Amino acid sequence: MRLIGVTPTQDDHTGQITINDDYLNALCRAGALPVLLPLTDDPALLREIVDRVDGLVLSGGADVDPAFYGQETQPFCGDISPRRDAMELALCRMALEKDLPILAICRGEQVLNCVQGGTLYQDLAAQCPSPIHHPCHDRPREEVHTVTVEADSLLGRITGMGTLGVNSRHHQAVDRLGDGLRVIARAQDGVIEGVEMPEKRFVLGVQWHPESLSEHRAEAQKLFNAFVEACDR
Ligand code: MN
Repeated sequence: MRLIGVTPTQDDHTGQITINDDYLNALCRAGALPVLLPLTDDPALLREIVDRVDGLVLSGGADVDPAFYGQETQPFCGDISPRRDAMELALCRMALEKDLPILAICRGEQVLNCVQGGTLYQDLAAQCPSPIHHPCHDRPREEVHTVTVEADSLLGRITGMGTLGVNSRHHQAVDRLGDGLRVIARAQDGVIEGVEMPEKRFVLGVQWHPESLSEHRAEAQKLFNAFVEACDR
């Protein structure tokens, strides 16, 4: 059974490490054993994680500190999580070096883009106004907008669909694309909603939350099934 490391969210006030169990349930349904990782930036521990897990899920969460993509923090940037930034940027780099399969969800896609030298919109509503409301945090299991998927991409091949209905719980998105990344899905307003790294075994980033749709939507579960399948050593 493949072992999948999942990065945690931390509550800054209580220090509690949490994860929405939608991530774990989707991975279990895909036949994997998910493990919630400790929030560490110890290089030796991160190395141990990368050596032991068969794949990595970078989960959703707070905003990446704009300092990591060379920008001043704007007033419309949201809360940041310095400990997660320290962990995930380093862990993602190590995983890419090892060509470990990565499923990068929401914040995870943004982390991946930053690691590859890209930048983010600090707030879509302020910097990229559109009729689509992306931060629909109160409707996690609803498909609130569609994305157009490139047919000859990981997403296109996995789902077999050219248009996907997605939930949307983000106020940021990829702006300048990082090195080695390819855009494979966009919302109707042009916002980047999916990326892959064609030179890697399986590196997929999505801006939406397929884990929260996967119980009832086959195409959302298929992303986890394909990811776990790619985690074969
Ligand atoms: Mn969206």
